[in-house]
Amino acid sequence: MIGSGVLKGMAVTARNFVGSYFEKDRLITVQYPEERNPLPENYRNFPFLIYDGNDAEAGLRCVACKICEKECPPQCIYITKSEDKKPDYMGKPQFYPAVFDIDISVCMSCQICVEVCPFEAIKMDKVFELSRRERFDALLMRKNELTKSNSYYHEIHPMEAAEVDAKLAEAAEAAAKKKAAAAAASTTSSAPPTPATPSATSRSSTS
Ligand code: SF4
Ligand code: SF4
Repeated sequence: MIGSGVLKGMAVTARNFVGSYFEKDRLITVQYPEERNPLPENYRNFPFLIYDGNDAEAGLRCVACKICEKECPPQCIYITKSEDKKPDYMGKPQFYPAVFDIDISVCMSCQICVEVCPFEAIKMDKVFELSRRERFDALLMRKNELTKSNSYYHEIHPMEAAEVDAKLAEAAEAAAKKKAAAAAASTTSSAPPTPATPSATSRSSTS
């Protein structure tokens, strides 16, 4: 029948309109900004850099490998590698980004930087109220604006952050075992040979 689609649509609207007086789930609009709908776990907006512990510089996971910079489709990441090194979460000396900028006016929230990072150092944020009045570099995010703690990551993506923590703990444990095994092997090889016992020597000379 001609117009049946329109009638069905109107029925859905009427059902939700009347139902919204009785069921809160049917009330799909909120009084923003006073009221906000919770964002889903996998909501993403722009990237941020993670640090462990309380010190954003010392705990920064990024090692300035520049993979994300190379892979970013619109080329909106700019990194300058440090000249010195600092220990990473496993205590291994690593470079760090002296400069890490993301131009979020260009970023298309594709998450490719997150997918390619081998160090779990960059993740997607949920902050979306980022409009600015200025026309030029107000949306160029500097390293100090991009760095956020691992606790913050747990708040915005709890399931994903727990998986990442477990993966990093497993990697740290495997590295510690490998180091201990290497240390044990080098101790054994550097030990002096055990001298032959006198009875064994005399038996072999007699025969
Ligand atoms: S989300 Fe995509 S566009 Fe934005 S910085 Fe990462 S790779 Fe580049
Ligand atoms: S965020 Fe990851 S991929 Fe990008 S430079 Fe840092 S460690 Fe490398």
